[in-house]
Amino acid sequence: MYDKDNVFAKILSGQIPCKSVYSDDNVLAFYDVSPRARVHVLVIPRGEYTDIFDFTQNAPADVQLAFWCGVRNTVEKLGLRNNFRTIANTGRGAGQSVMHFHVHIMSDDRFSEEF
Ligand code: AMP
Repeated sequence: MYDKDNVFAKILSGQIPCKSVYSDDNVLAFYDVSPRARVHVLVIPRGEYTDIFDFTQNAPADVQLAFWCGVRNTVEKLGLRNNFRTIANTGRGAGQSVMHFHVHIMSDDRFSEEF
């Protein structure tokens, strides 16, 4: 069950600040407070979904499409092109610490043309 007091819900409501990268009606992207890569950004839907399993089961198709468009827009805004990873930890056993669905975008090769 979704916990309305989780830290990302507080970011979405403005109770906690974030360093925003990209924002639209469906998505908010912001820098991770404890980066584990040179570029480490989180993308979250504005709706209340606990994880990717909940999101893909219960979010309407247009909301899911808008989310992935938001991920793409975030990557483009960061200039990462084809040098990034996406990670969606799912469940505490797999390392999910915030129970609001999010995708990590991580890159150590900004603007690289090598690949
Ligand atoms: P996960 O462990 O996959 O649930 O990822 C949650 C991420 O949220 C971690 O990488 C944290 O560093 C990050 N995080 C927690 N609180 C904040 C915050 N207030 N602002 C930005 N990132 C946060």
